[in-house]
Amino acid sequence: MVKPKTEEEIALLRENAIIVSKTLAEVGKWVAPGVTTARLNEVAETFIRDHGAIPSFLGFEGFPAATCMSVNDVVVHGFPSDYVLKEGDIVSADIGTLYKGYNGDSAYTFPVGEVDAATRKLLDVTKASLYKGIEAAVAGARTGDIGHAVQSYVESFGFSVVRELEGHGLGRKMHEAPGIPNYGRQGHGPILPEGLVICIEPMINAGGRGVYLARNGWAVHTSDHKKSAHYELTVVVRRGKAEQLSTFDYIESTEK
Ligand code: MG
Ligand code: MG
Repeated sequence: MVKPKTEEEIALLRENAIIVSKTLAEVGKWVAPGVTTARLNEVAETFIRDHGAIPSFLGFEGFPAATCMSVNDVVVHGFPSDYVLKEGDIVSADIGTLYKGYNGDSAYTFPVGEVDAATRKLLDVTKASLYKGIEAAVAGARTGDIGHAVQSYVESFGFSVVRELEGHGLGRKMHEAPGIPNYGRQGHGPILPEGLVICIEPMINAGGRGVYLARNGWAVHTSDHKKSAHYELTVVVRRGKAEQLSTFDYIESTEK
């Protein structure tokens, strides 16, 4: 069921969103050649706990770490590991919190050192597609309007949308209705009521849209092993213009 949140609930979701946003920025400060993704995970987990929150991914359906760290051809749900990041890689950090009974959930794909122009384009277009999706998330619109906005934008650059995974409602649970696909048709799907809190999270491949699940049962890879990017923000559906709860401002004000 698609149910909007009360303003009291939104206030608690906003607190989570700010912790997650700041955690992503903290991770971003550490992203560099020579650093392991396990180290990034440790930075995030420490920051989350220091702020009185719980890393909600840890143990979620058996997930073994506090965060997802997905490198290069891993779309999402990568395990933090002793993999050492190298110049030209990209790493998508996906971070969730549980605080005061509500959830936070946002993601950002960081370049490691200097990346090539094609990779930079993938990152820029994927992030821009998220904002296209947010623009479409207004009261009275439908989930398909968001998906269409994301899909039409990224495909105009020759990139492709992963279809097996999608955004979602957010509240006491990490994944609530409705699903928010990153592709779709305008005017289709559930209606977005004012006060609905959703995570919009384009997962965009440089090559084809095909993906497969790794043998560990979690990491989703691109079938052609080309890179994939993932950006996620939490917004409240409002009349005329969505309200962003999480933000990349903390990351982008500290970017070197
Ligand atoms: Mg997420
Ligand atoms: Mg999410």
